[in-house]
Amino acid sequence: MAESPAPIPLPRTTFELPDGRRIHVYGEVRGAPPDDAPRSEPTALHMRRDELTASWIAVSPARNVRPHSSAPTGSGTVPGSPAERFRCPLCPGGPEIAFSYEAAVFENRFPSFVPDPPAVPDPRDPRYAPSIGACEVVMFTERHEGNFATLTPAETARVIAVWTDRTRELWANPRHAFVMAFENRGAEIGATLSHPHGQIYAFGHLPPTIERRVAALAEHRAAHGTCLTCGVVAEQLGSTRLLATNEHWAIGVPFAPRWPFEVHVRAIRHGLRRLADLRPDEARSLADALHGVVARYNGLFGFELPYMLIVHEAPAGADDWHLAVEFYPPHRSEKLTKIRASVETATALFINDTLPEMSAERLASIPLVPREAHPGFAVDIRP
Ligand SMILES: [Zn+2]
Ligand SMILES: [Zn+2]
Repeated sequence: MAESPAPIPLPRTTFELPDGRRIHVYGEVRGAPPDDAPRSEPTALHMRRDELTASWIAVSPARNVRPHSSAPTGSGTVPGSPAERFRCPLCPGGPEIAFSYEAAVFENRFPSFVPDPPAVPDPRDPRYAPSIGACEVVMFTERHEGNFATLTPAETARVIAVWTDRTRELWANPRHAFVMAFENRGAEIGATLSHPHGQIYAFGHLPPTIERRVAALAEHRAAHGTCLTCGVVAEQLGSTRLLATNEHWAIGVPFAPRWPFEVHVRAIRHGLRRLADLRPDEARSLADALHGVVARYNGLFGFELPYMLIVHEAPAGADDWHLAVEFYPPHRSEKLTKIRASVETATALFINDTLPEMSAERLASIPLVPREAHPGFAVDIRP
């Protein structure tokens, strides 16, 4: 086996904000939150059961007043411009983090789910449920510009360590049925701030699509006695839709993508179900995979391709789930984006306007510049 360098300890220091929310600072501590930090006042949060689809809807009216750095249409402020940066609430010194940082996580001031949700409007009505969960904001770097193609190897390794640390803690809470780290990148996705950041949601209920995925694994296991995901990975590795692979990850356009240039990065190892299962060498090659996918995306049309990035970790009991990072970019050509319109919204049946094999061929033809590897980080929680 190849000699692999040990991960570097990454200290985590936790502060409590005046309103009780927590902020975790990863790496060197260069300041503390001020006593007059803006307060979160989540009111009227609750879940409602849509009886006709037997699914839960999260009601979160306070989200409508959250900050947007994307300027109103026609005002002429360019994303990433000095004017926008001046107002960025995620840059050091802004209302969210008052000091310089390497990476940080704070509980969202405008959450959809909270650890101690307010009472539901009518506790006797079973169509209501409290919005139990968590909404955290993950700051990838204090630099205002960047994405997984341009973050340094150390910055990307730090993001993976931070995701691993936060999701491990959220999964450990028995009130959480599902935990999902994600990134909304670009105005087309509705990302209100361009500063490199992602989010983590913890849900009190298993969301509908996740429930479906868990059921598919169980149905396959019952029918065939084998792991469905191991089969999907093997198919991907042998397909023309494969973009790249290493000993740990299958990276490619899936057989049936919903989005035109959808790419999945899926663990080859059966048993690697969550971020916390990552071995140091697996975390290192995941960092490399994230860089590769986003570098290809940015090379596709000559601009930073907007995308949704989802870290798919296994819900409890889903033993045949393999950890995956899935990318859903809405662009189908340089100028056109796929709108999730009537058919997709009403039926959840997606219509893909591209041939997955051709999308894979285009993405695979974009050259990558190899980078030096970073040994990775292991979070060290400070008391
Ligand atoms: Zn910023
Ligand atoms: Zn498997």
